[in-house]
Amino acid sequence: MTDARATQDPALKDPDAAESSEGEVARARPAASADAPALRPSILDALFAPARALPGIGPKMAPLIEKLLGTPEREARVVDLLFHLPQGGVARKLMGSISDAPAGEPVTIGVTVVAHRPAQIGSGRRPHRVLVEDATGDISLVFFGMPRARVEKMLPLGAHRYITGRIDLWDGTRQMVHPSRIVDEAGLAELPAVEPVYGATEGLTSRAINKLAVAALDRLPVLPEWQDPAWLEKNRLPAFADALRLEHRPEEAPPKAEDPLQPPPATPSRKRLAYDELLASQLALALLRARQRRKAGRVNAGDGALSARIEAALPFALTGAQARAVAEIRADLAAPRRMLRLLQGDVGSGKTAVALLAMASAVEAGRQAALMAPTEILARQHFERLKPLAGGLRLRLMTGRDRAAERKSTLAALAAGEIDILVGTHALFQEAVTFRDLGLAVVDEQHRFGVHQRLALGAKGEAVDFLVMTATPIPRTLALTFFGDMDVSILDEKPAGRQPIRTITLPTERIDEVVAGLARAIAGGERVYWICPLVEESEFVDLAAAAERFDDLRQHFGDAVGLIHGKMPGPEKDAAMARFAAGETKLLVSTTVVEVGVDVPEATIMVIEHAERFGLAQLHQLRGRVGRGSKASSCLLLYRGPLGQVSRARLEMMRASEDGFRIAEADLKLRGEGEVLGTRQSGMAAFRLARLESDAALLEAARDDARMIVERDPGLKSPRGQALRVLLYLFEREAAIRLIGAG
Ligand code: ADP
Ligand code: MG
Repeated sequence: MTDARATQDPALKDPDAAESSEGEVARARPAASADAPALRPSILDALFAPARALPGIGPKMAPLIEKLLGTPEREARVVDLLFHLPQGGVARKLMGSISDAPAGEPVTIGVTVVAHRPAQIGSGRRPHRVLVEDATGDISLVFFGMPRARVEKMLPLGAHRYITGRIDLWDGTRQMVHPSRIVDEAGLAELPAVEPVYGATEGLTSRAINKLAVAALDRLPVLPEWQDPAWLEKNRLPAFADALRLEHRPEEAPPKAEDPLQPPPATPSRKRLAYDELLASQLALALLRARQRRKAGRVNAGDGALSARIEAALPFALTGAQARAVAEIRADLAAPRRMLRLLQGDVGSGKTAVALLAMASAVEAGRQAALMAPTEILARQHFERLKPLAGGLRLRLMTGRDRAAERKSTLAALAAGEIDILVGTHALFQEAVTFRDLGLAVVDEQHRFGVHQRLALGAKGEAVDFLVMTATPIPRTLALTFFGDMDVSILDEKPAGRQPIRTITLPTERIDEVVAGLARAIAGGERVYWICPLVEESEFVDLAAAAERFDDLRQHFGDAVGLIHGKMPGPEKDAAMARFAAGETKLLVSTTVVEVGVDVPEATIMVIEHAERFGLAQLHQLRGRVGRGSKASSCLLLYRGPLGQVSRARLEMMRASEDGFRIAEADLKLRGEGEVLGTRQSGMAAFRLARLESDAALLEAARDDARMIVERDPGLKSPRGQALRVLLYLFEREAAIRLIGAG
């Protein structure tokens, strides 16, 4: 029966498929179920209509809007415009006089044009200055790189104009660099009192976006209130629709209700919208969690003899943290409910051994286990490392690179139960893969897999237990966000004998010294990683940079230099890695493909070029490639100056700490959640309205709220429950609704 199910379900595409074996959901979604959006309440139709249908979007603007708000999977919709919130507002209030206008804040002032001092021909970056005045003082307007004729036309000598911009005091005089607007009397009359400023895109001004957003507001239906009215009142938060209106049409804000000029997310309207989004995400997780708990699991642990034997044969004793994690996992496996557990451990904390012992438990109970890694290299490495430790267990590797015959034999052996542990990449959850009896799935580096894939793998067996491993230490707020439905084990202790890694930051100009130092180290038998930066989004450009560095270093070190990059065919990658592991090459130039998990204990030096371009978490991961053996290791962070304040703080953090959790918290503060989790690249939805850096307290409130809702009204059937369904659809978390059935 397992077989039939796994081949029927288009599990990869549909998270729901994982659940359909139990019939409930299948009943809830009859024949039309393939057309999931049909379930969306029709009250939301107007919001999910294409944005290009809005008045004011012609053939010229449509592609610009797509570029700004569309994704490869779907076109821009009305709701995307509404959720594209302005970053701030510009005041159009007249300030009366120049001498009263505050410095550093956007203002609008009426002035007379007194004099032009155009840039001299050939004077490089010298600006065109225009002196303007009123009865109380004067301001120098500054224009860089603008044709003289244009400046003179905007500001004719002697004319009266209204200028908007920020006044700076410079050398004791007032100046305004590139006023954001210059209008005459008639133009002034048309300006709103407060104008929202949006993240724009080439060819599309903030003003144009605002016009469209206002048009989108007209499509906003009257929606039922899904928040607790008492909570809203206590926190003085507006209704959802009002919050959107306040954001896009701040000039309509009732007087003194709020200050639309405050930066986000301080305003009540921001807070309201952020909370809506957070509640939707937490509610989805709470529903998933409740669902998991309702389902019966199986006992996936035997008498402990096999795992004890394997543990005894390990070439090391478990650390306290590893032993604790193993015990927690075994308790879960032995209980007749489903395990959904996150194993968090910094690089090098020894997650692999924990996974092995967990899988041994499942095998002991007569089940199979699967270990899924995010890349080919890692899958292979897991396989190679597990093999010698797995005393007697039948291990097999399956990747997308297998030849047809190989693959066929693996599939047959798997279905016949002749494989105990299958290690592989995404290839593991393809439709054709059927286990005889999968009991435990281990997923390495979870954040690269979405919940969808997790469910797809779960569909490959009956009540599959899950162990999810991540080497990215995840700040509490993020853990809540993405793994709110899981239990957590933490490896907060490194295996004994690890040496601290010395971290040094150096400007790129000193690269010659670095090379000289490496020459000595290599002569002394050390092994070195040299990481080339992400130069651009394009892998080919990155590759060119790595290839160039490779040529360069070969001039110094000849055949001792190896190269590995993401565009290499798999077998070549393996070969390059193997040569480095064996010591045939001493210095491995690499793009970031070595980032995750690669283990060469002999490597003691990590050089990272353009370190300022990497995220902290990524630097930490990369640095974790060294310091794995017993010899002292170092990490050289080369940067190209001048560094901004944030970059400087980040590199300093790397120098100061080796604690992945501290670094991750700092990274979150400095850069935001999309970057920290790498969700930008993987396309996993980060929040659109909420900002985890600043909304952490809201997130916890949403989590508690969501759990309480699910406890009281698990089917979302009450009036508030019905409204919450609308919320889930609005933020596109409707997969969760299918978990509880339509109705
Ligand atoms: P990660 O958590 O990064 O996946 P690994 O499982 O790859 O870490 O382990 C890193 C290294 O530490 C491996 O070489 C592994 O053999 C070794 N190791 C794991 N546990 C211990 C331990 N308890 N004592 C000593 N070495 C260990
Ligand atoms: Mg690992």
